[in-house]
Amino acid sequence: MQAIAVSRDSKGPICIEKPRPEPEPGEALIRTLRVGIDGTDHEIIAGSYGEYPADEDHLVLGHEAVGVVEDPGTTGLERGEVVAPIVRRSPNGESVYFDRGEPDMAPEGSYHERGIIGSHGYFSEFFTSQAQHLVSIPSSLAQVGFLVEPLSVVNKAIELATASRSSFTWEPTSALVLGNGSLGLLMLAHLTSTDTYERCYCLGRRDRPDPTIDIIERLGATYVDSRKTPVDMIPSTYESMDFICEATGHAPHAFKTIDALAPNGVGALLGVPESSSFEIDGGALHNELVLHNKALIGSVNSNITHFKTASDDLQTFPEWFIDSLITDVYPLSEFRYAFDNNDDTTIKTAVQLSAYEER
Ligand code: NAP
Ligand code: BGC
Ligand code: ZN
Repeated sequence: MQAIAVSRDSKGPICIEKPRPEPEPGEALIRTLRVGIDGTDHEIIAGSYGEYPADEDHLVLGHEAVGVVEDPGTTGLERGEVVAPIVRRSPNGESVYFDRGEPDMAPEGSYHERGIIGSHGYFSEFFTSQAQHLVSIPSSLAQVGFLVEPLSVVNKAIELATASRSSFTWEPTSALVLGNGSLGLLMLAHLTSTDTYERCYCLGRRDRPDPTIDIIERLGATYVDSRKTPVDMIPSTYESMDFICEATGHAPHAFKTIDALAPNGVGALLGVPESSSFEIDGGALHNELVLHNKALIGSVNSNITHFKTASDDLQTFPEWFIDSLITDVYPLSEFRYAFDNNDDTTIKTAVQLSAYEER
């Protein structure tokens, strides 16, 4: 079968031949339908993030997948069921975090992430997985189910942030998303789909006309240009925010978020930046957090519960949003185009490895 991988001696992603995997006891064989690409894949390709599986010269990419059960083995799943796989695995099978259904809270070094850290991903015509790592999703999501994983990351971040405000009566009305990439736009779509926030904002660094600005405004949010209004100037130009989600991977934003928050507000950091040095007034930020009961949380990955909520959410998003977010789906023979990210008209791309046929 064909797979898309990065190897130690190739520059970009390459197509390689691998044997079709044989399911072990307790595993199902999944035929991959589509795999989405995000900022993390680009970071892996650039060599700034990720880890090869031990003793391997390549890493099969792909952590945002939707597939169909080809051979259920002894799992109890049904052939033809549409599934989305979670990302983390326990390398030696023993982990309290995995036993509790909370692999997303496992400390670094105690997990693999398929397609990212130490374990091959889903960017192959078939993959195998234990049933407990697969979430059944409606067949109506067979084409777009690769969005369940990034949307589950959104759900987890909101859950963690909201939990941090649960000891008092928190009545947020304003929300800001930093970043107009696919993760930021999914977060914005989620925030604008609920009644929680009366006013939503999304920050980018693009000139009009731009398809992401069109999406932001069609979702009913206000576009903020970071070149004109840096994050710490947002309160004086617009308003201070009850909730902020950082999805740029630009490290200074983590700290500027503190200034942009309203008293009692919470900022959720999602970006995975490279090491970078810059000056901050640590005392002022410390003071700001304490005297205004502000919180800053980091959030990574997601678990089965978040996948299930994400699957429900995805079905409520307007069709125009999904259609505008997914700018291109390429066949496997044209996979290279899916990794081109030099063009501002591209938002979210995916590769189709096989077609879904209703049974
Ligand atoms: P992406 O497509 O690269 O999006 C990042 C967006 O941020 C881009 O649209 C970029 O704008 C914008 N941006 C960057 N610096 C900016 C600045 N200074 N001012 C304004 N806008 C700025 O990545 P993604 O897939 O959406 O992911 C976003 C981040 O989250 C990445 O760091 C990724 O690694 C991380 N991530 C984390 C998790 C998690 O579990 N925590 C999950 C998925 C992804 P331009 O396009 O105009 O350059
Ligand atoms: C993935 C998460 C993963 C994170 C850090 C993200 O792109 O969506 O599942 O935990 O990267 O590796
Ligand atoms: Zn991702």
